[in-house]
Amino acid sequence: ERPITTLSKAITETQAARDAVDGGDAVIHWFKSDLRLRDNKGLSLAAEKARVKGVPLICLYLVSPQDFVAHLTAPVRVDFVLRNLADLKRRLAELDVPLYVESVAKRRHLPGRLIELCESWGVKHVFCNMEYEVDELRREAKLTRACLERGISFTVVHDTYVVEPGKLTTNAGGQMSVYSPWHRKWCKYIADHPGSLNEYEAPGTNPVGAREKYKTLFDQPIPEAPEEKSLGKDEKERYERMWPVGEAEAHGRLQKFILERIKAYHTNRNLPAGDHTSSLSAHLAAGTLAARTVVREALNAVGKKAPTDDRQNGHMMWVGEVAWRDFYKHVLCGWPYICMSVAFKPEYNNIEWEYNDEHFRAWEEGRTGYPLIDAAMRQVHHMAYMHNRVRMCVASFLAKDLMIDWRMGERWFMEHLIDGDFASNNGGWGFSASCGVDPQPYFRIFNPILQSEKFDEQGDYIRKWVPELREVKGKAIHDPYGRGAEAIARKNGYPRMIVNHKEARERCLARYKAGIGRS
Ligand code: FAD
Repeated sequence: ERPITTLSKAITETQAARDAVDGGDAVIHWFKSDLRLRDNKGLSLAAEKARVKGVPLICLYLVSPQDFVAHLTAPVRVDFVLRNLADLKRRLAELDVPLYVESVAKRRHLPGRLIELCESWGVKHVFCNMEYEVDELRREAKLTRACLERGISFTVVHDTYVVEPGKLTTNAGGQMSVYSPWHRKWCKYIADHPGSLNEYEAPGTNPVGAREKYKTLFDQPIPEAPEEKSLGKDEKERYERMWPVGEAEAHGRLQKFILERIKAYHTNRNLPAGDHTSSLSAHLAAGTLAARTVVREALNAVGKKAPTDDRQNGHMMWVGEVAWRDFYKHVLCGWPYICMSVAFKPEYNNIEWEYNDEHFRAWEEGRTGYPLIDAAMRQVHHMAYMHNRVRMCVASFLAKDLMIDWRMGERWFMEHLIDGDFASNNGGWGFSASCGVDPQPYFRIFNPILQSEKFDEQGDYIRKWVPELREVKGKAIHDPYGRGAEAIARKNGYPRMIVNHKEARERCLARYKAGIGRS
């Protein structure tokens, strides 16, 4: 049974008993990847329950350092979450709502600790938004029943994706694994269910007395990052400047993007130089902004109530990209085995990979001798972020030119990106390495020089991130040793190509063919 089905059953089967739970001294909203007050379904329901009962709302964030490790969370992402929590705590305090953040040593103790806190605060109602990874779905199914045994109603709701993962099926009721037909259904679902884009009300102020009663919770500081996930001082300062936190910042970025750039998104979105995309992925991953909100705002800007699959329209194209985020989570819920480091298509598990440390190091450090690849990898080191086009290029280069196991790249991304998200990352790697759901065919192998000429024509992106090549003029920027800029490249210590693309391509085709054939 799929974990999402297990949880859905637990929710349905306990519904009546949960509805019958009454009383309690306070209501809890348990924050996870939804660090916002606006348009947050779980929080809104919790606040409403508290209001009706006339009791205070308490917000809770429980984290285990083991979670950060298990989810391969990048230190920069841990820092982003902790800074957002501090902002959230401050804003909730203005409403006299406490946010209590606790670090629980062991992951498995987290459900027990939640129940203990409910009992010590006399809480009978807990709300949270659903997380769709396997362990989280199983945990919430158990919690739904365990809480009820203690007389506590535990309500977990869909919120994080525009359309509930697993909701859309083929006409025959089967699972969908191809994006385009799935996206058409996604658009139709929103058109048929206009309420799916409605905004949920933010919480109001807690009743008088809450601040005194929960003084210790207000005073509790946000825990520090665990040692192995903490940033150095310089990095911390840099990321604070580069990635300011909070809902106001996220909404500001969204509005600026809608006002200035979304209209041309369909033509410019593939250009890594300049500022053509929204840079909202870190906020969507931390939940400082809801996917529902960004889709609603983008549609409102053009007076539409539902998206279409019009790829010639910047607004619709962008909403279609946000739909990819929904799609990959839908895939994760439908085929949870992808969490176990296996290819979506079993025959792709038989490909023979290289485990060449020297090549992997050259890739991660941006020293492959392919300027576009090196620029992209250096962007991650500086910003913890990379543009989508070059994410595809570096993933293809690792898996197909270097023949290095795509799972090593997938892991590296999670350990370095500020927006690391298991489903989107796995989907992106699966697409680029051709092992995933709805991938590029394995025989389509990006030529890193042609990609560079096409998407960074003037070389602005390369010059920004690869200082050794800044003096190179014209087309030579895409291939300095091959096109007459050898003297500059050598003088500045820029490396030669570590593999020959033509030969690498032949090897890749042979390996993929043999691997698939072996199944
Ligand atoms: P925009 O172009 O402004 O798009 C808006 C939002 O739509 C993004 O913020 C993101 O939430 C969503 N989105 C856009 N494209 C995709 C996509 N292809 N798949 C899923 N969601 C998408 N995205 C992540 O959020 N986390 C990851 O860990 C991640 N890993 C990736 C790994 C690889 C190998 C590839 C090819 C793509 C990956 N992506 C990932 C998708 C995409 O690259 C980023 O979402 C995007 O670059 C973020 O920039 P933006 O916010 O400016 O995007």
